[in-house]
Amino acid sequence: EARPSGEEIQQALQKAHQQFKGTKDGKNADYIPYLAKVDSNLFGLAVVTVDGEVYTVGDAASPFPIESLSKPFTLARLMEEVGAKKVEDKIGVDATGQPFNSIIAIEMNKDHRAGNPLVNAGAITSVSMIPAKTPDERWKKLSDNFNAFAGDSLPVNQEVYKSETDTNTRNQSITALLESYDVLGSPADQALDLYTRQCSVNVTAKQLATMGATLANGGINPLTGKRVISADTARRTLALMATNGLYENTGEWLYQAGVPAKSGVGGGIVAVVPGRYAIAAFSPPLDKAGNSVRSQHAISQVVNTLGDNLYAAT
Ligand code: GLU
Repeated sequence: EARPSGEEIQQALQKAHQQFKGTKDGKNADYIPYLAKVDSNLFGLAVVTVDGEVYTVGDAASPFPIESLSKPFTLARLMEEVGAKKVEDKIGVDATGQPFNSIIAIEMNKDHRAGNPLVNAGAITSVSMIPAKTPDERWKKLSDNFNAFAGDSLPVNQEVYKSETDTNTRNQSITALLESYDVLGSPADQALDLYTRQCSVNVTAKQLATMGATLANGGINPLTGKRVISADTARRTLALMATNGLYENTGEWLYQAGVPAKSGVGGGIVAVVPGRYAIAAFSPPLDKAGNSVRSQHAISQVVNTLGDNLYAAT
């Protein structure tokens, strides 16, 4: 089967950008005060291939908070450090079918686990389980890991960090509930603080596409040539994105786009075509589940135009 040429990729990106930039549906996340203020018109797309080619259009160099897009990358690091079995036992690897900040999902889980590493409860648990003697050491591992995936140094957006720390009562409840079930690997306040910090890391669509391309490339960053995680961890991470990457709309997403993806409430989405490329999009207005409206339209169209829906036989 012929792979799309660079020219075809660039054209598909331009067409999607042109077609969806006027879409006015959705609205910025407002439960985090900082995100409500971001320019809703920003819209960028980037593709990074496993051969290290980079294609961009629009605001692909604008930094935005990574938010939930941090989750699969920290999960991958955790699997590397403690093994997949421990993640299966302590967090769970099935879809929750519930919103990203669900408390019911923890209550309904038979072991009172988070159920999936890509919802808030599962991501807070993941962070708490990263082996480290001190919170500083744990943070360094998380931060070094994001940088290795991105092939770049990703800064913490201090304004977002403060904005979320001041308002994250819902996540405080989730963390307290997990602690009551004795699931966390480190004290609740430390786990929540580091989770909040990782959500506040700034990333661009181009950097995010590089992070995704590392998963597409079996764990080797195609821009730096360095192995970040094992191929086994990469495939497990992608499977979890397929089951829970867009929260309660994940099934709908997989049905439309046919590729594993992960969203964040900052407006970013990254989708991965294993063995080929990752595509990232950034546009702040979200649908009710918390997924960027323009990013979903654009990614789904580009992937299907390029013939890369994983469920299509040709
Ligand atoms: N920091 C956000 C939260 O914990 C991330 C949620 C998301 O991106 O879905 O609520």
